[in-house]
Amino acid sequence: EAKAAGRSVIRFYDPNTQSILAQRFRLEVELRHALEREEFSLAFQKQVGLKGQCVGVEALLRWNHPVRGEVPPSQFIPIAEDNGLIVEIGDWVLASACRQLALWEGRSQAGKITVSVNVSSRQFHQADFVEKVVRIVDESGIRPAGLCLEITESMVLSDLDDTLRKMMALRAHGIQIAMDDFGTGFSSMAYLSRLPFDEVKIDKSFVQQSGEHASGNAWIIIETIINMAHNLGMRVVAEGIETSQQHEFLTNLGCDRFQGFHLGRPGNVQALEQSLDVALATD
Ligand code: C2E
Ligand code: MG
Ligand code: MG
Ligand code: MG
Repeated sequence: EAKAAGRSVIRFYDPNTQSILAQRFRLEVELRHALEREEFSLAFQKQVGLKGQCVGVEALLRWNHPVRGEVPPSQFIPIAEDNGLIVEIGDWVLASACRQLALWEGRSQAGKITVSVNVSSRQFHQADFVEKVVRIVDESGIRPAGLCLEITESMVLSDLDDTLRKMMALRAHGIQIAMDDFGTGFSSMAYLSRLPFDEVKIDKSFVQQSGEHASGNAWIIIETIINMAHNLGMRVVAEGIETSQQHEFLTNLGCDRFQGFHLGRPGNVQALEQSLDVALATD
């Protein structure tokens, strides 16, 4: 009817929808130029061990747009996934992170830290992904075990056989693999035992239910995850730690590494190195 048709026309010309689509299209065009214009950078966030020492860093991609300022990864990574640009961007992230680790490894003070790099589904499932990572690691000169690739449940689920094959090949080269955002999906528990992860990162949604509100049941789930991961020979990282209570609570539950604003915000190389110097000085 006219009324129904009118409604659908109105919906079609909804100014909000229009601007979201237009905005997405503009971002997509600008994203295509971002690499060559050198608008990407990496932020690094510390991971600390049980003594508070820095044991690793996670590399987090930043897009410094000349007009928009910093565009959050949650806004542009899904677009880059859709149009395939994530493959090229991901190569840049891997090479930059390995180059930075090589610089740190060149200085004795850095010790044997790991650098963790997030890998997207489209990137991981490329036919030449493993060869590419191995080449980047070789060219940078880092210890292969210094690199830890973070993958997520949805990537595993999209092709379990391919995931297993690639994990075995990467591990044969000594490269580490972490399961990121653990616990947010429905089947994480089921396949954790079937895939050879080195590390499990408990998602911040669980971490933030612990600590202050420890009376709930969140801690039972966390403890179960930790025990299972340890029994499978994997280390456990708690991410998104924002308070000292959460840090203490997760330490007592048996986590091995800790990451979050409470321990250090993501920052550029200079900011990270400064915080490391402070940590070393107080040792
Ligand atoms: P993620 O891998 O789970 O990374 C952790 C995110 O939590 C980061 O957000 C980090 O800044 C944030 N975070 C750290 N500590 C805290 C805390 O205490 N509280 C809270 N609320 N948040 C905290 P960011 O940098 O915005 O990245 C968001 C997501 O974008 C990442 O989640 C990851 O999935 C993706 N991402 C980031 N860099 C890359 C990349 O180079 N490649 C790919 N494919 N994805 C990336
Ligand atoms: Mg991550
Ligand atoms: Mg993630
Ligand atoms: Mg995460």
